[in-house]
Amino acid sequence: VPRESFFLATKWCTPIGHLPAGTSVERYKEVVEESLGRLGTDYVDLIHVHSCDELDRLLDPNVHEAFAQLKAEGKARFLGFSSHTPNLLDVANAAIDSGKFDVMMLAYHHGIWPGLSDVIGRASREQDMGVVAMKTLKGAKHHGLEGFEDEQDSYAQAALKWVHGDPNVSCAVISFFDLQHVDEYLYASGKTPNADEVAVLDKYDSLTADTYCAPHCGACLSSCPEKLAINDVLRHRMYFEDYRSERQAIDLYAGLKRNASVCAECSAPCTGSCPFGIRIQERMVGAHELLDVRPTAS
Ligand code: SF4
Ligand code: SF4
Repeated sequence: VPRESFFLATKWCTPIGHLPAGTSVERYKEVVEESLGRLGTDYVDLIHVHSCDELDRLLDPNVHEAFAQLKAEGKARFLGFSSHTPNLLDVANAAIDSGKFDVMMLAYHHGIWPGLSDVIGRASREQDMGVVAMKTLKGAKHHGLEGFEDEQDSYAQAALKWVHGDPNVSCAVISFFDLQHVDEYLYASGKTPNADEVAVLDKYDSLTADTYCAPHCGACLSSCPEKLAINDVLRHRMYFEDYRSERQAIDLYAGLKRNASVCAECSAPCTGSCPFGIRIQERMVGAHELLDVRPTAS
């Protein structure tokens, strides 16, 4: 397969996590070069500052110097960042203002906070950035969703068409589990949803409103005296239950500085703090039961 016939993306990460701000230029370059070796190619098309929720990592002078050198050496073409956290807006605006990024990959789907469309428009208009939408299936809860049996087969295409209907979105990221997804998802590429499909999306929104934790939100975080990253805990639960990525979910949960073990005995001052009506304590206790898998003693 000719190398130029596909687009290859990687990120500034190692198996133990994202490279932190202040990493040396040499180390930033080294991890990409190690990637190239493993991939068996001379260059990658895109490198992401991945899952970025802090400006220090986004704007680290060393990462930008490393990228400039890799680009000059023909080892990388474009620089991007991805974000799906409550700091998404600050991160996205800083990235646009910096003029240093070619690509922005954000959680973006039907029923999301409308202000996000303005940020995407700004990225496209002011910096000609490519915008990649992720989390396009808004939790992928359509299979097994009570009351949604008649719509579940048309949901994924409708959701993808909604994303593609935004002229500022360049493409969408979606996981493929089965071969049939190739036909199903590609059919929706470049199309916009019709009225029936919009109705399917509206129904999905109403059925999942009290269980889907919006990745950019964070409105409840200040209500938790334990300073739990409620959005991260519920996102990892989503990976487990809805994405069927059980191993990844358990590993991510194990990596949290504070987990939801305290929620069961808490007086739950978080109650009522979610504008979408999520019963936070109940969801957090359930998340801990699912994700707190410890190795059994031998
Ligand atoms: S129940 Fe959990 S999330 Fe809610 S306030 Fe208590 S510790 Fe925080
Ligand atoms: S639980 Fe509700 S308020 Fe908290 S981050 Fe999720 S959507 Fe926002």
